Amino acid sequence: KYVYQNLREALKRKLAPIAWNLLQEAGKTAAEMGYNVYTAGGIVRDALLGVESLDVDLVVEGNGILLARALSEKSGAFLRVHEKFGTAEICFPNGLQIDVATARVEFYEYPAALPEVESSSLKQDLYRRDFTINAMAVILGEERFGDLIDPFDGRDDLYKGLVRVLHNLSFVEDPTRILRALRFEQRYHMRIEQQTLSLLRRAVKDGMLERVSVERLWEELKHIMAENNPVKILQRLAEVEAWQYIFPGIEYWDIQPVLSNLPEAIALLKEHGQPEPEPWLPYWLSILHRSQPAMAENLCQRYNLSKRQSVMTRQIVEMLPDIVKLLQNKKIKLSEAADILLSVPVEAYALLLSLLPGDYQEHFLNLLEAMQTNKPCIGGEEIKKLGYRPGPIYKQVLDALRRARLDGQINSTEDEIVFVKEFLRECKDFKKGV
Ligand code: ATP
Repeated sequence: KYVYQNLREALKRKLAPIAWNLLQEAGKTAAEMGYNVYTAGGIVRDALLGVESLDVDLVVEGNGILLARALSEKSGAFLRVHEKFGTAEICFPNGLQIDVATARVEFYEYPAALPEVESSSLKQDLYRRDFTINAMAVILGEERFGDLIDPFDGRDDLYKGLVRVLHNLSFVEDPTRILRALRFEQRYHMRIEQQTLSLLRRAVKDGMLERVSVERLWEELKHIMAENNPVKILQRLAEVEAWQYIFPGIEYWDIQPVLSNLPEAIALLKEHGQPEPEPWLPYWLSILHRSQPAMAENLCQRYNLSKRQSVMTRQIVEMLPDIVKLLQNKKIKLSEAADILLSVPVEAYALLLSLLPGDYQEHFLNLLEAMQTNKPCIGGEEIKKLGYRPGPIYKQVLDALRRARLDGQINSTEDEIVFVKEFLRECKDFKKGV
């Protein structure tokens, strides 16, 4: 059935002006070149839902790369081309990225392999997408600009709140869709349609997730952990029994209590002016925090984490229980608690906060605040100006200064200068004079 709807205004409202202008320009330029161009996927879904959309995807019936090149020349934006896939990205200095694809069919050589590409029309391009709600397009040609193309009734599913695959082999063709289905379901408070859910469970049971490359699995996993509230999605992964393929050896229900405290902990730290880590990291650390070091190491390797991230994960696994205990000592001085905290990567603060019992959480937040407000006024530069030669001793004196400030032994810049001079006078191996 054909239902007419025009999304011009919905798109205009929810897009950044630069993206909106580009959609119009794309329509004009494509017409000049004799192509049809559409915007498709998430942007159409989000326009129908009335939510902001950051990504813009264009689909071209014609040569996508040539159109992308013409658009980037007109707008002065940077162009990245992937000849092999017939795709290109137009990158604007403000971070906006427009993905341009040539309308195509993808033939899966074997399940879970990367697609082989061949030119074809829009409908086939939409048919190879993951879910009906993501398989809609909007015409950008001037005459019918904004008209919705919805061959698989995605709009109905969207309004009914259903995540539905386009065909029975969808999860077998690309098992990362298992993770995507759960992500969209929770993000938009939808439901996975009944038949789709049984196909999903079947694919999980048949071990399809073992056949996906870890790179692609990790991309989807990172997306999940970066959603506004990943906890429910992670729980759904456990419910459909996909969890064990993704975090083998980790029992979801063991870490569930900590995970469910995490969003609030992250929000509290933000309120207290703490730097925000990459959004997925606190979740990753929380999921692994009870693992044996060797298992944590394995998972870091499996997902190819950077050296720094792997070291951080191991550090957390090894020292977290002790740190949690130490921070629950009521007699501890502020400076001692701060020393402990400074030995923990900031990315793990949310986890630490989630692990502390209620009244200690307040302690923790007060401590963070005290560390901010009682920072020494003088630093290395000032010490140098006092005539002391720079060296490793600077760190010692600055640490001592920080502790003295926190414990209230000194309260002014003058006190700090006296403190530094005395501290350095007492150091035998120290030589004055720069
Ligand atoms: P988000 O808001 O999370 O970015 P999105 O729908 O824009 O959601 P992308 O991962 O950017 O998600 O994908 C863009 C579009 O590409 C999707 O809307 C969907 O049509 C298609 N797509 C992405 N991944 C797949 C996949 N694994 N299988 C089929 N189609 C996919």
